[in-house]
Amino acid sequence: MADIHAHDILKSTQIVIEQALRKLGHQDSMIELLKEPMRILTVRIPVRMDDGTTTIFTGYRSQHNDAVGPTKGGVRFHPGVTEPEVKALSIWMSLKCGIADLPYGGGKGGVICDPRKMSFGELERVSRGYVRAVSQIVGPTKDIPAPDVMTNSQIMAWMLDEYSRIREFDSPGFITGKPIVLGGSKGRETATARGVVIMIEEALALRGIEIKGARIVIQGFGNAGSYLAKFMHEAGARVIGISDVNGALYNEEGLDIPYLLDRRDSFGNVTNLFPQTITNDQLLELDCDVLVPAAIENQITETNAPNIRASIIVEAANGPTTLEATQILTDRGILLVPDVLASAGGVIVSYFEWVQNNQGYYWDENEVDTKLRIMMIRGFKQVYEIHQTRNVDMRLAAYMTGVRKMAEAVRYRGWV
Ligand code: GLU
Repeated sequence: MADIHAHDILKSTQIVIEQALRKLGHQDSMIELLKEPMRILTVRIPVRMDDGTTTIFTGYRSQHNDAVGPTKGGVRFHPGVTEPEVKALSIWMSLKCGIADLPYGGGKGGVICDPRKMSFGELERVSRGYVRAVSQIVGPTKDIPAPDVMTNSQIMAWMLDEYSRIREFDSPGFITGKPIVLGGSKGRETATARGVVIMIEEALALRGIEIKGARIVIQGFGNAGSYLAKFMHEAGARVIGISDVNGALYNEEGLDIPYLLDRRDSFGNVTNLFPQTITNDQLLELDCDVLVPAAIENQITETNAPNIRASIIVEAANGPTTLEATQILTDRGILLVPDVLASAGGVIVSYFEWVQNNQGYYWDENEVDTKLRIMMIRGFKQVYEIHQTRNVDMRLAAYMTGVRKMAEAVRYRGWV
């Protein structure tokens, strides 16, 4: 079942990549090349578990295309990871890097495992084992990993340490999203949410809605969702709904976000604190100004898209809306800020982190946030302009913006 669903994600991505490249005037050979990652490695990772048994985990690293520069993107630890999903995610990273104009192609990795059921020691051994297994194809000028679903700065630290041991020199630029003391960047942890806030501001301005008092619904309370709730609350917006994997909370007057942030566990679980008020499905259909899916793929589908009552959707998660749903939402006049634009804040600040590592000179948080803002707004304006001038939906506009530079780089290199 999980596999069929992941194949759908890859298929949909390929459909839009093809549409984007055709609109940009490219030939079949370019489409053939960019429809698939140039390289995907499958690895088996034997890990000694705390009870003395050995579990063999499966992991992947997908590199979409390196015509622009080294590939870049996170590693997720999740029981539902599949090869087609990791492939699609690496293509999306190319698009994010293209929209933000970063000197990278897209990469992505994943390990099929469930961190919620593993000890600290087991997680460390999986992290180190993954790096040993992919070490030949990654590196600061080849392919640079980062955090993603259920991986964090501690996991990046173990991965960095393992890589530095293998290479026998310290190389902080091998991975981003590190703890600050190991060369991480100020503002990286909050970057995805900061970027989403900037997109919400732009979209609200287009719709003539004030941020103060705007009704926001956020699906997911992980890294992106929880910081986003915090920033929206601080900006005076009303966060009326949030959710985790178990259910959702709703209060028309606005939820007590500081309390929820304080009580959240490291996987973003909060709904167990209250008798559950609504289901995740009901949450998505709440009447609100901005709906932010900040969890996982395929949440808004042709089934619930006709019932969505938000005026704006800003996708903080990767792939939360299916292609069919995108069409329905666009036809209904809902302003959609697609994932490859809206969630680019993370990789943008990862790029800043890598630049700081390469220079050995570290910026203050204000510098990071200012530069992030400039790049996010530039991305939004470019995508919105293509959406209007080429009369395409926001997702296709984002794909066209994101793939343009890569295709040009492929051509200059003479690959097709
Ligand atoms: N995993 C994040 C994403 O999907 C960040 C990737 C990165 O920082 O390289 O965009």
